[in-house]
Amino acid sequence: MAFHKIAIGVILALALSTAALQGVAAGASATSAPSAQAQDVAQGSLYPRLDGRQGEQKVLVLLVEFPDLAHNLMISSIRNEFSRVASYFYTVSYGEIYLTVNVSQRWYMANRSIGDYLSGGDGYNALRAFAEEAFAMADGDVDFSAYDSVVILHAGSSAQFGGSSYTLDGLGIETGDGATLECIMIDAEYDRWVLIAHEYCHALGLPDLYDYASYSSGSYFSFYAGPWDIMSNDYRYEESALTSWNLIRLGWMPDRSVRTVMPSETAACNVNELGKLSGSRYGAIRIQLNDGTYYLVECRLPVRYDEKMPDFGVLITHVNESIEPGYGPLRVIDSTPSTGTLDDAVFDLRAGKTAVFLDEENDVSVVVLRLLSANGLGFTIEVTDYANGQLALETAQFLLDAKDRVTSRFYVLDVFGERAAVEEAFDTYATGDFQGAYKQAQDAIGIYWLDVSIRIAVAVAVVAAVVLVAVFRKKVRELRRRIDKKIDPLKYPETLPDGRADLR
Ligand SMILES: [Zn+2]
Repeated sequence: MAFHKIAIGVILALALSTAALQGVAAGASATSAPSAQAQDVAQGSLYPRLDGRQGEQKVLVLLVEFPDLAHNLMISSIRNEFSRVASYFYTVSYGEIYLTVNVSQRWYMANRSIGDYLSGGDGYNALRAFAEEAFAMADGDVDFSAYDSVVILHAGSSAQFGGSSYTLDGLGIETGDGATLECIMIDAEYDRWVLIAHEYCHALGLPDLYDYASYSSGSYFSFYAGPWDIMSNDYRYEESALTSWNLIRLGWMPDRSVRTVMPSETAACNVNELGKLSGSRYGAIRIQLNDGTYYLVECRLPVRYDEKMPDFGVLITHVNESIEPGYGPLRVIDSTPSTGTLDDAVFDLRAGKTAVFLDEENDVSVVVLRLLSANGLGFTIEVTDYANGQLALETAQFLLDAKDRVTSRFYVLDVFGERAAVEEAFDTYATGDFQGAYKQAQDAIGIYWLDVSIRIAVAVAVVAAVVLVAVFRKKVRELRRRIDKKIDPLKYPETLPDGRADLR
């Protein structure tokens, strides 16, 4: 599969620059007294906050073709693909950034044929040389100093060029107009917008979230995060949003939208659908563990860029900021490990899903309490200790079974209001009173069985009464007929003596 991959050079550059970035973060924390959250991120982390990813981002797209491979697409269709990239970032960033994209007026002709550039085996330097060549060709027409980033878009597919799209960081290429370009992306003419957006995320500083080891062995490579982030999605579902981890790092999901809870603590919070911030609801819940590890809890519902996701519900991820990109710094917690895919990893309080995540070691549980629909979609979630989580799990299962029973098609009459009673039990569960909810549901189901026996008795009585009435009426008719026969016909002649008709 033609997939894009961050170049080796980028990983090296990232590793090299980590120390410097940490230095910056440490310096900032000394002067500006940041929140506890910011400190947690800064300590021993490979993933510090990414600053300055706000406002207008000017992107230049430089078109390059080869002596042996001319371009095919119209410049207008390339502009169109980039406008989809721009819409994506405007939406997922909650309007924090907007891209203005300029596509070069013409295709520049490269010096060598397409297969030559990456044939030497020295990937990073070969790509760098290709970039330098492209910049030199366009330098007369373009003021590079006017742009924040540059995409070199070459003719053909990435498979023809080197098998992948690339983002190169730490380049330091000087152009004729005095600009120094640190970061470029190399995409192919036939790359879909979602791949270009993935590369642009690298340019913003985000790591790959799929698994490099399984990617190079050719097997399913996104098992760390499945389809739930554009940095791991293999695009079977076309597109996806960014997980809250990336949104928080980029500063697009502000601190006030993230609620931090400590293990063993119990806290219920309303969490909004990812992609819609709201004053009264959180975008994510962070459960702080230790050593730069934590859980993030977020809602993923079939709206916006999650519209084509295979499932919806509450997504829980485990973040370990000491793990390198491509080795699972973020891992999605699978609610259904038996299915062997992360497509259905989300938690939810509905039939067939698991409503509670349990972590005995850290004394943490995450309970899905209820789906919210007023003021946008979301969930009420409770973070609690392990024991309470176990109780919640048992209750949720019992409630779902009870609901299944009282809404089954064999259940026709609802004279005792068991359906309402079970609904009430769900309401009680949503307040976090799991014991109370269990008892309520149990009582409702008890009424149900009592109800069934009474209904059977009533039905038998009604049938018996109907039969009795029928038998009685038949008897009465027979009796009347017999009485009629016994009456002497002479006393009551058919025709009266005066010739008038029967008067009976
Ligand atoms: Zn990548």
